[in-house]
Amino acid sequence: MSDQVCPECGASDFIEIDLTLADQTGVTFCSCHRCENRWWNKEGKPMALKDVLKLARKARA
Ligand SMILES: [Zn+2]
Repeated sequence: MSDQVCPECGASDFIEIDLTLADQTGVTFCSCHRCENRWWNKEGKPMALKDVLKLARKARA
């Protein structure tokens, strides 16, 4: 799907789950098999969880 690797351990073997937030922002939840690191991508770039939550909150407001 992408050539991204885990930011923690560099593994390319991780789960990607595409989600659409309430404001129609597309994000991808990623979970690494090797180190169990979890992170989010937005438009192919890593995104902090707090920013995802901020977007989700904004959409509800
Ligand atoms: Zn990892």
